[in-house]
Amino acid sequence: MSPRSAAGAGLSRRVTALEVSPTVAMSQRAGALKAAGRRILDFSVGEPDQGTPAPIVEAAVAALHAGRTRYAPAAGLPELRASVARRYAATDHVSFAPEEVGITVGGKQALYLACQALLDPGDDAVVPSPYWPTFAEAVRLAGGRPVFAEAREKDGFRVTARLVSRVLTRKTRAVIVNSPSNPTGAMIEPRELLALARLARRRRFTILYDDTYGRLAFGAANPRLQAVRDIAGDRFIVIGTASKTYCMTGWRIGWVLGPKTVVDACAALVSHSTQCPTTFVQVAAAQALDGPQDGVLTMAAEYRRRRDWIHPALTAMPGITCVLPEGGFYVFPNLGRYLSPEVPTTLALCARLLEKEGVALVPGEGFGAPGYARLSFARPIEELREGVDRLATFLGGLVLG
Ligand code: PMP
Repeated sequence: MSPRSAAGAGLSRRVTALEVSPTVAMSQRAGALKAAGRRILDFSVGEPDQGTPAPIVEAAVAALHAGRTRYAPAAGLPELRASVARRYAATDHVSFAPEEVGITVGGKQALYLACQALLDPGDDAVVPSPYWPTFAEAVRLAGGRPVFAEAREKDGFRVTARLVSRVLTRKTRAVIVNSPSNPTGAMIEPRELLALARLARRRRFTILYDDTYGRLAFGAANPRLQAVRDIAGDRFIVIGTASKTYCMTGWRIGWVLGPKTVVDACAALVSHSTQCPTTFVQVAAAQALDGPQDGVLTMAAEYRRRRDWIHPALTAMPGITCVLPEGGFYVFPNLGRYLSPEVPTTLALCARLLEKEGVALVPGEGFGAPGYARLSFARPIEELREGVDRLATFLGGLVLG
């Protein structure tokens, strides 16, 4: 039973208002077709196609044998808090003390907790669009109102301080920035993030900076996070995760970096809900962060190679335009010219593409961007080739508007 159809069955308004994630909906349908024996090329899911590196797996096994099987502190193991602080100091040159780091059950929980800690019912939080659907839902679950600031394809989907400033209200308490972005792959320019930091100080809102794909950037200048912190101070929070950087999606380790007051508030919420992230998994995550990072660079180079293949392949198709992703593993092509009275939305187009050609993309509607679709290129290149061929066949059968 979907939360919506359960409305009136005694469930809370909070739960009945939840939108089902379009990514999940699409991969469920793809899964059902696979189970029925169809060969499906699934580009809907956002996770690395490689397994977790062996040293991380071994660290988890060793931690189990060493009896690291008891509760951990709600804010996370001290050694992992210190590892996260060290990693950000080494890679991003930004300084957070270990007590300014909270460990969470994935980046998703970090976002959820940060919204719970910062927002009161009736507060506004700016969410630049196209946006990852969980941003809007995490704001709503805290009683807040997501206010969308529309980044445009012609501007490379870049988020700017100006774009944000246009939608600020007296009730704005937070602004979410995700760079590189899911779904567009766009990065915020360093000077724009600095301008946003100045705005945060002046207008008293907190920047929630989600750097989930930060280590998978393809060479554009990374924002200088210390400079942002120097300006915004306690109004700068970083949300991150081991999921994509270390191929650890199922392990569920993320973090929130920010003022101790916020980290303590998140820990207080954790202490009454999940208690702590899994203890032996935290030990393994420390290994991931403290161990050699060359695997991350190799993986980023591999995604770049795939991006360099898929972007020209998509834009070579008649009528398709697409911003060049600067990091992460998504492309977000504009399929608007293929819409028609017969296939009026990208929702309909993606559903048809899946049924006819067995290719799963996520329609842009769920990201606040109808007319687009998200393709994850965290798939082997041969699969990408076959997928693009099938997409071309499918689009070739539609009327180009
Ligand atoms: N932020 C963004 C932008 C994401 O795309 C994701 C994963 N899809 C996350 C956060 C959270 O990832 P996890 O909970 O696996 O750490």
